[in-house]
Amino acid sequence: MLSGNKSSNVVINDKSFNTETEPPQLLKQERENVPFTVRDITHYLNGSVEQTEILEYAMQRVERDPLFNNDAFYDLTKDEIRELCFKRVANLAKYLLDSRKDGTDFRRYFDAVSVADPAAVTRLGVYTGLFMNSIEGSGTPEQIKFWYSLGANEYKRFYGCFGMTELGHGSNVAGMETEAVFDSETDEFIINTPNLAATKWWIGGAAHSATHCVCFARMIIKGKDYGMKSFVVPLRDVDSFNLLPGIAIGDIGKKMGRDGVDNGWIQFTKVRIPRQFLLMRYTKVDRSGNVTEPPLNQLAYGALVSARVNIAVESFNTARRFITIAIRYAAIRRQFASVPGQPETKILDYPLHQRRLLPRLALTYAMNAVSMELRDNYDRINNSLLNVNQNDKAALKKAVNDTKEIFALSAGVKAFTTWATADIIDECRQACGGHGYSGYNGFGQGYADWAVQCTWDGDNNVLVLSMGRALIQAACDAKRSKPVGEPFEYLSRHGQLKSSKLGSRKIDSPEVIVEAWEAAAANALISSSEIYEEELAKVKGNVAQAMEAASQQRFESARIHTRLYHVTAFFNRIKNSSSSGIKPVLTDLAILFGLWAIEKDAALFLTSGFLSAQDIKNITKLVDVYNLKIRNYAIPLTDAFNLSDYYINSPIGNYDGDVYKNYFNKVVRRNPGYDAKAPYYESVAKPFIQRSDEPKLDLSVLDE
Ligand SMILES: Cc1cc2nc3c(=O)[nH]c(=O)nc-3n(C[C@H](O)[C@H](O)[C@H](O)COP(=O)(O)OP(=O)(O)OC[C@H]3O[C@@H](n4cnc5c(N)ncnc54)[C@H](O)[C@@H]3O)c2cc1C
Repeated sequence: MLSGNKSSNVVINDKSFNTETEPPQLLKQERENVPFTVRDITHYLNGSVEQTEILEYAMQRVERDPLFNNDAFYDLTKDEIRELCFKRVANLAKYLLDSRKDGTDFRRYFDAVSVADPAAVTRLGVYTGLFMNSIEGSGTPEQIKFWYSLGANEYKRFYGCFGMTELGHGSNVAGMETEAVFDSETDEFIINTPNLAATKWWIGGAAHSATHCVCFARMIIKGKDYGMKSFVVPLRDVDSFNLLPGIAIGDIGKKMGRDGVDNGWIQFTKVRIPRQFLLMRYTKVDRSGNVTEPPLNQLAYGALVSARVNIAVESFNTARRFITIAIRYAAIRRQFASVPGQPETKILDYPLHQRRLLPRLALTYAMNAVSMELRDNYDRINNSLLNVNQNDKAALKKAVNDTKEIFALSAGVKAFTTWATADIIDECRQACGGHGYSGYNGFGQGYADWAVQCTWDGDNNVLVLSMGRALIQAACDAKRSKPVGEPFEYLSRHGQLKSSKLGSRKIDSPEVIVEAWEAAAANALISSSEIYEEELAKVKGNVAQAMEAASQQRFESARIHTRLYHVTAFFNRIKNSSSSGIKPVLTDLAILFGLWAIEKDAALFLTSGFLSAQDIKNITKLVDVYNLKIRNYAIPLTDAFNLSDYYINSPIGNYDGDVYKNYFNKVVRRNPGYDAKAPYYESVAKPFIQRSDEPKLDLSVLDE
């Protein structure tokens, strides 16, 4: 109801509010009469009550640590942020060590800090993730013990970095040029950078932190090139921190985001390391230079899979922050009155705004399901890989197949979740109008920090193509009734799925949505495999050439398969949840996600024959219907993400909804000592603004 006939004044429970005072009341209202327990959804998202408690412990510890105070975060310079970041890394490392004693999963600290300060997670994560996973995943038990004995696992008198990328090569690891030549006389490898383009580039931690580098180099023994292997190369003397002989390092400098990370470049000039510094779990080299190769090269890339899985989890962690800000803001922001004489409409009540935010809320929940499932599968597969008896052929084969599958699956999930989060950050920014552009509301820094996730740990497009290759191969196998891996099981039902149609059934049920996606994906993948096989015939069986020609089909196959994986993982996670009270709202959310995704990809469902043109029209209406259902619980569904104002770090997205006061106060607090005259007033502004008129030409002298 309007108060005082002013469009911006309203009455709530017989009390008058204006634009300044109303917002917190609105968020309170949004939290009333919720038919489920928000806390139960938090447990669902985290996996269990116990996991919530562990995560909250980690989050609270970080939030209460004065070093992690983020009030000034958006105003820091590159050099300030670098220094602060390393201080935070030191504390975070201590938390990780504590977690070993109290049994907490250390990744919960990363989950917490990745929201508060992504650069701090990267700066330490390159070491604890990429470097340590290389040692533990590619080193022998003796080697692991050796590097532990130097302090690698205690983060003490030791700091690791990961040197794969070169100035001239990134995605094509096999094309890198750094050399490791075996000297059989001294039993050493000689690591060398043969030309400028072979300089290791972008290496996180190299500029100012790392004592050691896992360096990827071509192993050359007796003139034979064995391709890329990983070597541990000492970079600095740990006492003096001076660079060791033959090591040249420089600073990569200013980046688009994550300036807290000291990325550097490294050149090796004939640096000698003992033969045993080659990580030898898979490829082994003996004293005489004899080489034993592993059954599958991907086995050595375990560190990369683990990083991709963590990035998928981070995609959810980051997306939930920005969708929370945008939805809270939309629930209090009013613009225009849809009905004359009524208060202005909250922007969350505009159907178009709902379409922009609510399916993305559903997508964020889908990313939670998919990343958690991927993480669980990775943990299981990695454990069996590390413990497999190398003499047990059947077990080894299974471990190899599982690794291949998770290698492909993690590639697609990493790519599509990071892209989704980049889209969510920017759409949420725009959904907050001008205030979304303020540095204090977090979107600018958030996007700049996030964007690199689409590029590092495997460029997204390259990853998607590699997944597409595996999918086309699986589709070819399925066509010939050969067995396919578990994630591609639906392909073996392609004959039956080909004829399945919606018919008179309702589309808004979990089973039907999954069937629709399976039918569309099977149809798209089988048809992609046919195009690939046509190309293969044209190039007389040259697989690489045919795969290249079918790039678009590979991309689309991976995109559609990953979408299906999101849909099934989301419904499965709901089904497996022990909390029945939350199932109705989560099922509505998953249905919204599934239908919205169908609507965006309507052509797929028309081509597969599962849906008719009329069905697609009905789905568009249904998306609006489900948006309205979810709109009622949009605030509780974002509250369930359980991010305190510290992690939100955006005054327009605080829990209390007191948007205008919080935002105004932040702007004033962060810009103290305001002077109406700029510091450059005398030198720049005054001469410009106060300039006297230019002397006019006296044309009268020209008159006769
Ligand atoms: C901030 C930052 C930190 C980093 N930290 C590290 C680190 O610590 N250690 C490390 O080793 N590396 C690191 N990297 C490097 C990163 O992993 C690479 O940049 C990434 O793998 C992409 O490789 P590239 O830069 O060579 O791109 P390129 O491979 O040259 O890609 C350029 C473009 O070409 C496209 N493209 C490439 N190949 C194909 C193809 N076959 N078909 C179609 N399109 C293709 C790509 O999609 C991309 O758009 C970091 C990078 C950044 C930006």
